[in-house]
Amino acid sequence: MKLTNLTGAIEIGANCYLLEAAGKRLLLDTGYHPKREGTEGLPRFELVKDGTVDAILMSHAHQDHIGSLPVAMRRHPDAPVLMTEATRNIGETMLHNSVNVMLAEKNEHDTPGYPLFTHREIDGGMRRWKTLPLHTRFDLAGERVSPTENCPFTMEFFDAGHILGSVGTVIRAEGKTIFYSGDVQFTDQNISRAATFPDFADEPCDVMIMESTRGDSPSPAGFTREGEMDRLAADIRRVFERGGCVLVPLFALGKTQEFLAMVHALRRAGKLPNCPIYIGGLGAKLTEAYDKLASRTPRQVPDLCLMDDLAPFVIGGANAHEIQVRPRRIFALSSGMMMEKTLSNTVARKFFSQPENAIFFIGYADPESPAGKLRAAKTGDIISLAPEHAPEPIQCEVGTFTFSAHAARETIVDYIKKVKPKKLILVHGDPGAIGWLTGTIRAELPGTEIVLPIPGASFEL
Ligand SMILES: [Zn+2]
Repeated sequence: MKLTNLTGAIEIGANCYLLEAAGKRLLLDTGYHPKREGTEGLPRFELVKDGTVDAILMSHAHQDHIGSLPVAMRRHPDAPVLMTEATRNIGETMLHNSVNVMLAEKNEHDTPGYPLFTHREIDGGMRRWKTLPLHTRFDLAGERVSPTENCPFTMEFFDAGHILGSVGTVIRAEGKTIFYSGDVQFTDQNISRAATFPDFADEPCDVMIMESTRGDSPSPAGFTREGEMDRLAADIRRVFERGGCVLVPLFALGKTQEFLAMVHALRRAGKLPNCPIYIGGLGAKLTEAYDKLASRTPRQVPDLCLMDDLAPFVIGGANAHEIQVRPRRIFALSSGMMMEKTLSNTVARKFFSQPENAIFFIGYADPESPAGKLRAAKTGDIISLAPEHAPEPIQCEVGTFTFSAHAARETIVDYIKKVKPKKLILVHGDPGAIGWLTGTIRAELPGTEIVLPIPGASFEL
């Protein structure tokens, strides 16, 4: 049994791993690097001979897990793609949006290799997408298998609590049990319920492949999501009272819907006044998918219909420059990292010279991204969010709040200690994050072997 890490470096990057067991080959996720362009953003697909993969498993529909799926499918034309119904639904929207972004880039900068795939290729390829429910064993063809059947390679999904449709997967092959976490959140968010991962009480876990995103950020003492929501509400009220408005840069998938549900809860509790909320076109499409799937997915507030109950205004990318930044409004716009030419990047520049306004960050941003740089800056610092714009002093307020869709590192350690895997493989984290988890688990679980998979290398499980 062998695992090959196909990511480019020890980083969050473009997730992709090849598992070989029982004479079969399974690709775990086929991501695209959020900070790269063209073929540079692909995983190391060239390390896997074309046409040799038996199936592709999709943990969830974030770009860094699904973004290169059509390219992987082209290389492995017989492989079915295994995912939940919700991942199918939102994955389709995410990939079509990627094509639009790549075509725009091609037009403007003639980026080599773009588009990496086409709308038609996505539509055609979806015939091979198989949807599977939670807590049900299935084989590499996506056919359901009873637990008593003697199948040499099976998989089973468990809700990961990260975004709509996200799963961790138990893989059983060669008499061993492997668990691939995907991205996980072990505590409730406003919509997503906490992960319901298996505890492996009756079945030892031989190998656990665990994400490490927040391994380098300790949770402050006494931190609660409710307390953080109160702090955010108080700060938004304060900005409104001085005649300002608020920009919240966030990811279109997951964070937009969690934020809308949070605003709804705060309004109902009388902690936030009614005010216009603006979201982007992609955020709106994905919010509609959350609404459509509300009764068929594990979530809190199943009756909440975000588009009806919050009635956000939808801003198209083309009219971003015409947005009027008026008092007592909330702009909840992607991208979360404020990448160039995205709505949040364009609108943020209208905020810089206005001390009454505020930009509030509520999720992860790579420190090297425009959002990461702005978050680290202080009022008065001079900053540019895109190379073609002259640097400007920041006069608006900048604040940071923690509403991560990723598990706090302490809860990851608790889960690993409960399961006691024989082998632990730490992925999806920067070196500092993986380093902290390695040190902590080594001290707490000396019986667990920890493996740090070198990018591009294979190792025996
Ligand atoms: Zn994710």
